[in-house]
Amino acid sequence: MQGDSSTAAEACPRCRGTGVVQRVIEDKPTPTPRAQPSQARPWSNGPLFPDLFPDPAQWCDCALGVERHAEQQARQAEERARKHAERAQAFRDGLPPEYRALTLSSYPRSLPQRRVLRELARWLKAIEVDNPVWLLLSGPYGVGKTALACSLAAHLIERGLVRDADHIVVPRLLRALHEAYNPSADDRVRPPSEATLLREAETVGLLILDEIGQHDTSDWAIQRVGQVIAERHDQRRLTILCTNFSVSTLALRLSDYVMTRVTHRLQVVDMHACPDLRQQPPGSEP
Ligand SMILES: [Zn+2]
Repeated sequence: MQGDSSTAAEACPRCRGTGVVQRVIEDKPTPTPRAQPSQARPWSNGPLFPDLFPDPAQWCDCALGVERHAEQQARQAEERARKHAERAQAFRDGLPPEYRALTLSSYPRSLPQRRVLRELARWLKAIEVDNPVWLLLSGPYGVGKTALACSLAAHLIERGLVRDADHIVVPRLLRALHEAYNPSADDRVRPPSEATLLREAETVGLLILDEIGQHDTSDWAIQRVGQVIAERHDQRRLTILCTNFSVSTLALRLSDYVMTRVTHRLQVVDMHACPDLRQQPPGSEP
């Protein structure tokens, strides 16, 4: 081994004991073609004006430089993790208490529930290897679809895999869109415009579309839902859908235009065999 970092610093002519060598800041008025290949690493002759131009830093490849670089990377990773945890917490804080209480870790572990968790783990794994597939949770009321979807969203924010998330109940979104067209007599509270509501749904990092299909299926409604889905599909934005319906029933209620996008890259998790959690408080074992 080279010895401790103070002797390595003394021994290193490139960084002179700082761990950092500076890139030469090129002169702006003379963008001359770089003819000499020997100038490809202009910083190799040691720091120029290190006090005047501290950035961009180039870490020296001596022991001290490697150590300082690792320290900086660890600090940056810690900072990122802190930001992600804050965002995940902000998302959880915005949820109704009912959905905050049940999480992936507090979800009960009966046989059908364990199967669901295994399938969700498979879905998370695909996202971690950068293969974003949409998720459809299908099952009756009370099996925990929404809470699990929200817990997945918080997990993905925490891991830094999506920057933010939103939970939208589709029938409520459609009502809000109606109100945007026909503001009530009481216009002290101006409702958000249709464009604003749709843009939010289209651009959020992960969208949970809850109760999809369980709304009026007029052309108007299908067009609005279809617009959100098409935009998210085309921009490859992650989406989780929750519904009481099976995929085939959903296909009858939504148009082909919508369904081809939903099913393009989709993992379906069937929760019909899961018990109703409202009969059985979260956390209690069956
Ligand atoms: Zn060095």
